This record gives sequence, structure tokens and C-alpha cells, in this order.
Amino acid sequence: MKIVAPAGGIGGARFLRGLRKAAPEAEITVIGNTGDDISLFGLRVCPDLDTVMYTLGGGINEEQGWGRADETFTVKAELAEYGVGPGWFGLGDRDFATHIVRTQMLAAGYRLSAVTEALCDRWRPGVRLIPMTDDQVETHVVVDDPEQGRRAIHFQEWWVRLRASLPAVSIAPIGAQDAKPAPGVLEAIEAADVVLFPPSNPVVSIGTVLSVPGIREAFAEKTVVGISPIIGDAPVRGMADACLTAIGVETSARAVAELYGPELIDGWLVDEADAGVEVEGIAVRSRPLLMSDDAATEAIAAAALELARELAP
Ligand code: GDP
Ligand code: CA
Repeated sequence: MKIVAPAGGIGGARFLRGLRKAAPEAEITVIGNTGDDISLFGLRVCPDLDTVMYTLGGGINEEQGWGRADETFTVKAELAEYGVGPGWFGLGDRDFATHIVRTQMLAAGYRLSAVTEALCDRWRPGVRLIPMTDDQVETHVVVDDPEQGRRAIHFQEWWVRLRASLPAVSIAPIGAQDAKPAPGVLEAIEAADVVLFPPSNPVVSIGTVLSVPGIREAFAEKTVVGISPIIGDAPVRGMADACLTAIGVETSARAVAELYGPELIDGWLVDEADAGVEVEGIAVRSRPLLMSDDAATEAIAAAALELARELAP
């Protein structure tokens, strides 16, 4: 069986780990969000690709959900001594090595997809991880800054530095219109038996992957089952509600399914807290959707596959 899943960071990565257990024989291709990517200290940082790679490769900081296990922050402290920031983005020493390798390869002319493959040679995530595009796409957020007025800032500045405390006037994946899917993305979707949307952020993770021309259309041809990142009208962790509010969508399992729409998704898993939710044109099932441990996450993935089998033409 061939499975394709777009993914952001923490929610996507955890789900994928359960999926790998639920379908050990399957060939899984992950299309990673690169809209969160940012250049810091001259290095290219790809937070979502790395979260997927470290989580599936056994190198993640489990409690935090991002960054390396057993991390130290000597380089960051030394940079601060030089007065070199930003200090709000927590890059650890082990993590720095990943960004150095990536930046060196990009500078040598390799595309991000080839670089990601090379990094995965070390981590062996057990899935094929492809960035959504090799072109530069960066999510920007327009905010009304009380000091500087209305301005657009990088998504990471809004998310990590401001913790989404300033409401977003709008959110846009800059560069997406002219981006092309990375080599292998459309081919993998076309060959897929099933497409699963993990409980990733529907706006700045999956929404960004869908903003690359051609990807949404390719998914729409497939049996697609999504897992709600919203349980009982709140994101399970993080601030996805701030992103939904910015695009005028209510924070509820039903509203996220409607945002994707019946032309894109066929099935939708909601938590038991949302049992009874109905969405026109989409088959909805309720299951416990808290990824509290590996077994619970595997069960969620198995339920998604079961619904996909039921809905397949
Ligand atoms: P990010 O890039 O690190 O923000 O991660 P993603 O975009 O992949 O996932 C973030 C989303 O995962 C958030 O909107 C959360 O609501 C969702 N999420 C996190 N943990 C869980 C969980 O245990 N169950 C469900 N259903 N969603 C979760
Ligand atoms: Ca992310």
C-alpha cells in the first residue's frame, strides 16, 4: 500500500510515527511544509522537515516535541555574548549541525529535496520525506504593531517571538504562487492508494502545502481522510486557533473540515468530544484523537486507514 501525507511539525510528526506502526508494510511519502523555513545566522532552518526527521528518526526532544534530545545551547550563548541574535529562536548545538550541513549543501547547488534526502540518510525515518517545493516559500503574517504600525513579519517571528499575541490581519505563503512541487511530489500523490491529512495546523502547515500550485488538485483526485487537530473547539496544543481566526474560520472540528471541503477530503476523523458533528459531503467518524502515547496514536492512524478503505472507490 502507498500512503501520502502532507505534514507540518509536531502534530504531523507524532501522527506519522503512529501511522508507521499501524501500516508497517506501507510505503509512506511525507510532503513536508517549508513555509516555516527561515534563515538565521546565515543558516537555512527548516523546522517542520526537521521535526518530522527527528521524531521518526528517534532524535527528537520528546517532552518539547521539537528540537534534539540531550541538547545543549553553547553556540547560542556564545552568539549572545557577541550581541548576535535573534535570541528568541532556540537553536541548540546538535540542531546547529543539521542546519550547517543543509546550508553547505544548498550553497553547493543541491536542491532542498536532495539535501533533505541526504539528511534522512542519517536519520532513517522509515518514510520518504520530500519538501513540498524546492523553491523558496515563506509564510508571512500581517500584524498591527502598536509601535510600528501595520507590517508583515515572518511567521516564526509572529509564532515564536510574539507567541501570536498580536492578532494576525492576514497570513500568506509568500512565493507559493510561483513555486513548483518538488521532484517526486506529484508522482507520489498520483501513485498513492490513500492520502491522509494528519492533525497538523490546517492554515500554516497543511494550508501552505496546498498553496503550491498542483498539489491540491492532485490530492483532490484521491481518497483523502483527515484527522482533526481541533478537539472540543480548541487546538490540542499550540495556537492554531489564532491562525484560523486570521482567515475567518471558527475553531471547531466541523469548520476545519469545511475549510478543506468535500472536493478535497472524503473522510474526517473527529474526537469523541465532537461526536455527532456532521459535514456535508464528508464522511465523519468519531474516535479518541489524543495522541497521548504510541498506542493511542497508532489506533488513530488505523482508524484513518479503515475509513479510507471504506471510502475508496
Ligand atoms: P507545528 O508545525 O509544530 O505547529 O505542528 P503541526 O502543524 O504538524 O501540528 C500542530 C497541530 O497539531 C495543532 O493545531 C494541534 O492542535 C495538533 N495536535 C497536537 N497534538 C495533538 C493530538 O494529540 N491530537 C490531535 N487531534 N491534534 C493534535
Ligand atoms: Ca510548523
